[in-house]
Amino acid sequence: MAYQVLARKYRPLRFSDVVGQDHVTRTLLNALSQQRIAHGYIFSGHRGIGKTTIARILASALNCRNAIGSELRPTPEPCNACDSCLEIRQGNAVDVIEIDAATNRGIDEIRELRDAARYRPSRDRYKIYILDEAHQITDAAFNALLKTLEEPPDHIVFMMATTQPEDIPQTIRSRCQHFSFHAVKLDDIVGQLRRISDDEAIAVDNAALALLAEAGDGSMRDALSIMDQAIASAPTDDGKPMLTVEQIRELMGTVSNVVYEEILEAVNVNSSAAVLTTISRLLDAGNGPQQLARQFVRYLRNCTIAKITSLTPDAVATGAAADLLQISDEERRRAARSAALFTEEELSRFLSIMLRTFDELGYRQEQRLHLELGLLKLVHVQRLVPIEELLGQLGSPVPRKTASTTTPSKAASAAHTGTSVPVGAGHAPAESAVRGVATSPLRATPFQSDQVRRTPSAAFTSAASTPMTEGSLALAPQQASAEVKRPSAEAERPHLIDTTPLAQPVPVGSASSSGAPNPRSLPEASGYNSAAASGFDLYTLQSACVAAVSAIKGQGSAAHTLEEASFALAGDTLEIQTTVSQAMLPIAINPEAERAVKSALRELGAGRLHVKFTASRVKASTKPRAPRAAAAGSVEELAAKHPMVQQAQQLFAAEISNIIDLRDKN
Ligand SMILES: [Zn+2]
Repeated sequence: MAYQVLARKYRPLRFSDVVGQDHVTRTLLNALSQQRIAHGYIFSGHRGIGKTTIARILASALNCRNAIGSELRPTPEPCNACDSCLEIRQGNAVDVIEIDAATNRGIDEIRELRDAARYRPSRDRYKIYILDEAHQITDAAFNALLKTLEEPPDHIVFMMATTQPEDIPQTIRSRCQHFSFHAVKLDDIVGQLRRISDDEAIAVDNAALALLAEAGDGSMRDALSIMDQAIASAPTDDGKPMLTVEQIRELMGTVSNVVYEEILEAVNVNSSAAVLTTISRLLDAGNGPQQLARQFVRYLRNCTIAKITSLTPDAVATGAAADLLQISDEERRRAARSAALFTEEELSRFLSIMLRTFDELGYRQEQRLHLELGLLKLVHVQRLVPIEELLGQLGSPVPRKTASTTTPSKAASAAHTGTSVPVGAGHAPAESAVRGVATSPLRATPFQSDQVRRTPSAAFTSAASTPMTEGSLALAPQQASAEVKRPSAEAERPHLIDTTPLAQPVPVGSASSSGAPNPRSLPEASGYNSAAASGFDLYTLQSACVAAVSAIKGQGSAAHTLEEASFALAGDTLEIQTTVSQAMLPIAINPEAERAVKSALRELGAGRLHVKFTASRVKASTKPRAPRAAAAGSVEELAAKHPMVQQAQQLFAAEISNIIDLRDKN
């Protein structure tokens, strides 16, 4: 006998054999025993979950020659022994007509069907039409069918199987009983695969079965198809095919999720190099970038769910976690382990980055490059702080009216490039601003602030909020004099609104060195002279500070700020002139970074130096430029008025470069 694929060989013949659709089979069995037969049925759901199978079982049950309750057929299940049942199983029953609506979708075919439907069944009780892919039928053809469904002859039953029930006209749907099929649960698929492999004498362990079931993704037929392929390529032992996890992975072109766990661990410690090494190893082994990205997206999705459902690595998944994570226990533990490294926000940000990367891979030439770039973004995204958090924490302690500065700085320009502020959708600006604003860590990286969030009582109040009120940093007030050159591109931007610089900034706080002279009075060049005189090599000092701060996890931005800063000595004061604005300074150089700097100096024997951090010396415009006149009620005006926008302008000297109006045009 010719080889029969598993999905066909093990196609259920009774309602009770159908896996994972109990809600459908129960209802149909009840309807059969009560003789309440509808004239139209719609079976909807994903591919390979038993729609057509159930349609055929129902057809058998309706046309079975043995009456329900008879000796050969004690229940409403078909007997599977009479001529009718056997013919339906073989697909040559005269009165059960299966039509592939994907190819017979036109009005002519349906008219033909409708005309034929008028005649009584040739032998059996019902004339049954099974329309597969019913959503493909044209509207005109559905209309031709409508009359038959409106006043159906007693002997007619239509069964429509579809993956897109919404594409079936409402007029048809309302005349049918609609059954929505569920995706088959992982455990159910594994159980069925286990039964089949025992029957077929296949040696396979549970991990391999779970992998097959996961690959099926809720579809029994898909899982069985992959199993078929795996059996075909499996080595045999004593005539018994042996399925292994490695072999199935190779077949599907997937890699073990171990590597994604590794990548996330590398992301967690900010190690771009480790991320790139891992992905390069996979690519060199011949894995496709798109497949890798797809699998990573799935993995991140599982991690996000694990986080949301508070699944811990050593707990057994129950409830929502078990429902939402249709993966093996081992994979659940893995997802929970990765999830434990990050916050929910971070995981969903990772997921959105990888989704975008996956989308982009579809139409990009340099796929490898884009995948690598996408993964690097995961590392970098950790240096981003949600703007809500930033504004929220800055909001109260800094006196709003006076603490503004419009010093354009690196941070600021990073802030306004690519920040588009949608107006109208009340919640939208914050979300979009988050992506555009690359800020320095807010005394704390997202991790630190997250840890702080987790232990709100102690850490948050002491570590997070004090620096802003009685900051340990000496901030020199800025002198606003020179006109800032506007970016040349600005003129071309249609929706640009100027930032209006406000009054002079005020120092946020003062440190031990607050008595030192205003750093502005230091001659620019004298620093190095006095450094030489005092025996300190400024370059060494700076390198040591940068190294010390880089060594602290999550202080990448502070290290960058120090790297960009210019160091100068005036007497016993080491002035560290940063390029960040006044408002950003306490955020860029947080107390932890400051402590690291001081201890680095002590190690170099420069502990006696007073350290003074100052904001960028680039001068802001004295004369507030009048904002471009925005028409009253216009989007531009709304954008400029938005408190979130105004705060962003103050904090980052951000400019509005682009406004997208998301309000409903109706
Ligand atoms: Zn029968």
